[in-house]
Amino acid sequence: MAKQQTFADKAAKAALMKGSKCPTCGEIYQPILMVSSEQNKTKATWKFQERRVQVCKCNEKQVYA
Ligand SMILES: [Zn+2]
Repeated sequence: MAKQQTFADKAAKAALMKGSKCPTCGEIYQPILMVSSEQNKTKATWKFQERRVQVCKCNEKQVYA
């Protein structure tokens, strides 16, 4: 049988492994992947940039806005 993991299990495990807490709100940072698109002005092509963002209570409103 395939091993099944819920998202909550993964998140909990990741939190245990990393355990980096925000000193302001005490929440454990959730690493998320943000994808933004940028247009190359000279070639008029689009490229996508991925960046990892650490989200906690302090910045979740800005991140998910
Ligand atoms: Zn915080």
